[in-house]
Amino acid sequence: MPELPEVETIKNTLLPIVKDRRVLKVEVFRKSIVKNLENEFKEFMNNAKFLNISRRGKYLIFHLSDHKILVSHLGMEGKYYELAENEADSKYCRVAFHLDNNKKLCYDDSRCFGKMFMAYDHNYLKIKELAKLGPEPFEITNVDFLLEKSQKVNVPIKTALLSQKLFVGLGNIYADEVLFLSKIHPLTPTRNISKNEWELIVKNTKTVLKQAIAAGGSTVKSYESGKGISGNFQNKLRVYGQKGKKCVSCHRILRFIKVNGRGTTYCPSCQKKNVAPLKIAIVGKIASGKSAVLNIFKTNQFCTISSDDVVHSLYSQKNIQDKIIKKLKIKEKNMNIFIDGLRNHLHDNPKDLEKLEKLIHPLVKDVIVKTFNNSNSILLVAEVPLLYKANMQNMFDIIIGVDINEKNQINRLKLRDREKSDFNKHINDNNNLFDERLADLDYIINNDGDLSSLIRQTEEIISKVLNRLDQSLDRA
Ligand SMILES: [Zn+2]
Repeated sequence: MPELPEVETIKNTLLPIVKDRRVLKVEVFRKSIVKNLENEFKEFMNNAKFLNISRRGKYLIFHLSDHKILVSHLGMEGKYYELAENEADSKYCRVAFHLDNNKKLCYDDSRCFGKMFMAYDHNYLKIKELAKLGPEPFEITNVDFLLEKSQKVNVPIKTALLSQKLFVGLGNIYADEVLFLSKIHPLTPTRNISKNEWELIVKNTKTVLKQAIAAGGSTVKSYESGKGISGNFQNKLRVYGQKGKKCVSCHRILRFIKVNGRGTTYCPSCQKKNVAPLKIAIVGKIASGKSAVLNIFKTNQFCTISSDDVVHSLYSQKNIQDKIIKKLKIKEKNMNIFIDGLRNHLHDNPKDLEKLEKLIHPLVKDVIVKTFNNSNSILLVAEVPLLYKANMQNMFDIIIGVDINEKNQINRLKLRDREKSDFNKHINDNNNLFDERLADLDYIINNDGDLSSLIRQTEEIISKVLNRLDQSLDRA
């Protein structure tokens, strides 16, 4: 969808094409674009002369002779093409304006979400769509009105910015960019944004939009300004479309979440979430003491859940057992004790592990989500050994990794798995996976010491996390 910089670029590209041109004839191929007022529209445009083009938010405003105004919103895919009269119309031409210089302007819109409105100088700003818009960002000099308005807005800041009601100009791409530069988590409730932060948001909005306009907008999927011109700002995007890549500022892995249905990329380190509840995942090497860390959170009265416990509980349910037996085509006679039967089956059919995980991971995720939703705790903590394999990292605000050196790891494991010779390779693979993900961890606990060291490190992290919420461990 074209955003403000793209519409500004389109405006600048179109102006020399249409300025002082008179419309000889209009063809409407899709009535819904002109609100089904085909005849009125033709009459309105007939013989009108283009005098100027301006922009309000993402609306193009064509100023015509006789004080007429044509307002055009490009929807998702709308484009204007200038073509010679003897050329074929563009592929998705919905409205064709035949001009007095043997050329035509095709409004092209494959998805037909675009709209055109007829109005006049004295009333176009009053049409419903324009009347509800906030001010243009470049005109904002004082943020007091934003601070005041935002007290009444009970939605995440990203949603409030996209609404265009506080001020116009930020769509999905640039809202992500501005929040990143302002170091504000996209889910922060709008009423929690301070005056200082509003000033940052407005300043960064102006900067980002100016840069984007100078670069000719971003060509992301659906935007093209005029014929054969495409913007190159997408090469400069810091977070939008960069999920899974490293933050340009701190090198942490960027995360991707949905905010009211809109895909949102942010840096968990530069844009720390500071409103409760905070969702925390504990990952770590095999036998590193993840459960012990989880227990320290539990002892401090926070909501905790262990994925391993969830899996065991799922395996004990008859309907889940039946699903697994069916999915892996396990022969019933082996299944007197389900866990043993499953283990034997996986030993003989190692490739079935992936099938099993595909079935189980979403169920585990559901249980964790439900547990979190039903809790009032300000910290919601889950031990998720397979966080990345289950692709669950994006549902957490904070990830804690528990590390241990190999010698201690093997010492601890020998107590548990004396006989398994292929375990060393398994440990090795798992350790490598952990090391690969170090850049995605918010905190690392080293568990090579004793229990009191583990408790001290964990409680230090809890204090830091609570600090974000202006809380302390004894008050929580
Ligand atoms: Zn960062």
